[in-house]
Amino acid sequence: NRQIILKHYVKGMVKELDFELRVSKVLLSLHPGTKDVLVKNIYLSPDPYMRSRMQPMEDPYIDPFSPGEVITGYGVSKVLVSNHPEFKPNDYVVGFTGWEEYSVIKEARTLRKIPQIGLPLSYFLGVLGMPGLTAYAGFHKVALPKPGDQLMVSGAAGAVGQLVGQFGKLAGCYVVGAAGSKEKVKLLKERIGYDDAFNYREETDLKAALRRHLPKKIDIYWENVGGKMLEAVLENINKFGRIPACGMISQYNLEKPEGVSNLFRIVAKSVRMQGFLVFDYEDLYEEFTERVSGLLKDEKLVYFEDVSEGLEKAPRALIDLFEGKNIGKKIVKICDP
Ligand code: NDP
Repeated sequence: NRQIILKHYVKGMVKELDFELRVSKVLLSLHPGTKDVLVKNIYLSPDPYMRSRMQPMEDPYIDPFSPGEVITGYGVSKVLVSNHPEFKPNDYVVGFTGWEEYSVIKEARTLRKIPQIGLPLSYFLGVLGMPGLTAYAGFHKVALPKPGDQLMVSGAAGAVGQLVGQFGKLAGCYVVGAAGSKEKVKLLKERIGYDDAFNYREETDLKAALRRHLPKKIDIYWENVGGKMLEAVLENINKFGRIPACGMISQYNLEKPEGVSNLFRIVAKSVRMQGFLVFDYEDLYEEFTERVSGLLKDEKLVYFEDVSEGLEKAPRALIDLFEGKNIGKKIVKICDP
């Protein structure tokens, strides 16, 4: 069983040397009397939140990894052997699994059966999975959009951002995205349906860039990145603006997070900034799956993935997220379904 191990806690930017590929000779088997499930992993999902698990955290919202142990995260897998009444061999499942070829999922915890609805299995790690629910719930329950709202999305060409922009268009908003390359900007405008987009890396003055692309200023800022972009948005936000704080990826690899100098704008502009976690919205899962799979089938929603092949590519795939190398949802394919 080939496995990806976290070698040690990580300081600063995560590197390939922080991981190790190990071959374990231990035969995986299920203990009688448990509800454990043995799976073969097919697709893994590198996600930005995993960086926060690579170091001890004060008041963690999710348990940190243990150095020397297999990395865990969302994955799509095939059931080989099951002690659980809800799962049987050859079922495809999504849930928390290991970065390894085979895993035992204790008590089938977090596993869901993947319905056969004619959509690719990997979609259950993206548009129909955790990032999809994040975009869906955060946009509809936290951003509270109105037709005509000026919506600005950072990290716009990634897993969550590409969907938020499209939900924005469906809700009648004017949608502008910021992303880190020309290619991403082109994709946003020509394929994903953003009204406008810009490459934030080419802008020396982010405040001016926002003024240029959003002359009516911002009603909703979908926060994926934090730092300088948040500061620039606070200078360009309308009265009663809303900021669903989904993530702040620019801060995750910093040993000392940057400050935001103009937070008082939140008071002065009566802004509501609200953080949220996808885990708070599990109850929306059924509604979300039905709505979003319907939109995909009706071709009212497009979705882009960026697939790396091979378990050994998983650490690099995760690092790609922090270097902006992914276009769309990053996926690691371990084997054919
Ligand atoms: P993405 O697919 O968007 O990948 C991350 C992207 O972030 C990169 O492609 C890169 O795009 C951008 N990025 C990386 N470093 C920086 C930086 N220093 N400054 C600005 N942009 C940067 O990831 P996800 O869609 O999975 O996640 C997007 C955000 O949503 C993250 O902040 C994540 O933590 C958060 N999230 C929150 C959840 C919740 O429950 N609240 C659940 C899921 C995700 P570019 O080329 O544009 O720089």
